[in-house]
Amino acid sequence: MILDGKSVSIKVLELVRDKVSTLPKLPHLVVILIGDDPASKIYVKNKQIAAQKVGIKSTIINLPDSISEEILLNKIKEYNEDSDITGILVQLPLPVHIDKNKVVTAISPKKDVDGFTPENVGRLAIGLEPYFYPATPQGIIMLLDEYKIPIEGADAVVIGRSNIVGKPMAQMLLKRNATVTVCHSYTKNLESKIKTADIVISAVGNKIVRCKMDKKNSVIVDVGIFKDSNGRLTGDVDFDLVSSSAGYISPVPGGVGPMTIASLMYNASKVYE
Ligand code: NAP
Repeated sequence: MILDGKSVSIKVLELVRDKVSTLPKLPHLVVILIGDDPASKIYVKNKQIAAQKVGIKSTIINLPDSISEEILLNKIKEYNEDSDITGILVQLPLPVHIDKNKVVTAISPKKDVDGFTPENVGRLAIGLEPYFYPATPQGIIMLLDEYKIPIEGADAVVIGRSNIVGKPMAQMLLKRNATVTVCHSYTKNLESKIKTADIVISAVGNKIVRCKMDKKNSVIVDVGIFKDSNGRLTGDVDFDLVSSSAGYISPVPGGVGPMTIASLMYNASKVYE
């Protein structure tokens, strides 16, 4: 069965839109985009389109590549203090002269709709409710829940340990009582770990999942997105090979990507809670 992120994301966005229409004041999301990276521009544009769809006010602040770290940090401080602004998101990656950690840490945890600040990450790690869960893992959990995939007690393999996907994904699966194995570039016998899993979540950016699965109800979630040698968008999973033996699989495109945006809009609408 295909885990159809596109149609589930439409459902989530409809729920968000309904909720936003009842709020006393419109949420206002500020998206800071630095430089001219074409991929970042597309991501930011997609976020703006989604915000429009659900009735969330969004402002894109496009700053030059040459901006100093100090000016950027001051801008974030200004937005933190502006009561009209309810969510702040800094599009990554940042130019090399800017320290990503300093920037992320500068965002108020209560406006951190990406869920990347140390306070939100720490809350998740110690079992407290964060103000916001990171959009991609939260979107994946929404997708699994929509298909009623049991997480409790499942053997879950997360491939990738980035701060934005792999680590929070592992934490969120643990919170739901899965038994989680986190794999990375030093992991030995990756294939044997993948094959025997109930749930595989791959966030690498390389064609890494290419084996038949042992369990016929296994669930494969492909987070990866990159261009193949023909310039086509593809994911981490060899779809044809893996889908012949798995129970559920998310496609690329049309899987995790739209869920990430919907989950971000869900966060952006949550600000008054
Ligand atoms: P990242 O920061 O580059 O992390 C990649 C991870 O993959 C690292 O932890 C790395 O291990 C691991 N890795 C690399 N080669 C490996 C190998 N041969 N075996 C096992 N693990 C390996 O990437 P990211 O930001 O998490 O993103 C991962 C992918 O997801 C990218 O394609 C990105 O475009 C995509 N993505 C998609 C969405 C979406 O909404 N669809 C959202 C976010 C990201 P080490 O830590 O040991 O280096």
